[in-house]
Amino acid sequence: MRVQTPVAVDVSDWKLLDRRAIVRIIRTLNKVYGFEEYATKRMRKANPFRVLIGVILSHQTTDEISHPATTRLFKHVKTPQQFVKLGVRGVDRLIKNVNYHPTKARRIVAISKMLIEKFGGRVPANREKLMELPGVGGKSAAIILSFGFGIPTIGVDTHVNRISQRLGLVPKGAKPEKTQPIIEKLIPEKYHLTLNHLFVTFGKDICKSKKPQCHSCPVYKFCKYERKEYFKNLPPKVVLKA
Ligand code: SF4
Repeated sequence: MRVQTPVAVDVSDWKLLDRRAIVRIIRTLNKVYGFEEYATKRMRKANPFRVLIGVILSHQTTDEISHPATTRLFKHVKTPQQFVKLGVRGVDRLIKNVNYHPTKARRIVAISKMLIEKFGGRVPANREKLMELPGVGGKSAAIILSFGFGIPTIGVDTHVNRISQRLGLVPKGAKPEKTQPIIEKLIPEKYHLTLNHLFVTFGKDICKSKKPQCHSCPVYKFCKYERKEYFKNLPPKVVLKA
């Protein structure tokens, strides 16, 4: 099933575009991280409700905090009905170290109620319906569709957006809402499912936000980032011995 993006973007005259280079970048990174196989296996086993709750917990919270919180929650409760029964205070108690936990606890219980009342207790595999749920925007919906259902779509978070700009796939300063339809059009569909995870991994490992490791970047030659030379030549960090 293919998801239609709501925003039509004409990329025919996008100057920095080089489709063959994009495919080579993705293939190179997939090879470096052995990613395609990992993501496919992961998606086969996915539970869309768990993915949805994980996405809510991940808003403005690092993966290191939100992933264990999701695991903790699902050790106690597994279905929307059980979340409703646990209630806002019960959910809140289990996610205390997550940013904005009171709001997220309220949201999670409200989502669970809405799933029961409107969607037969199941997470809908549809972007517009997902966006009816409290706290689910376009970016979250894309992540739920790809990781929860294996539907080819690209979730654009801060890593995907930053890397897309540095590589020259989208104009500098593009917002995630603008980046998503452009890269979904540029990148062949067979790579959509794995792209978010691939760029997130790459973004945490090498193409970091503040100090990209351009000197050891496997896709350096394709990159359009104007400061890549500077970061490549940055002297290695001096570690003082005690
Ligand atoms: S060369 Fe630097 S900025 Fe470009 S993709 Fe690699 S790490 Fe990121």
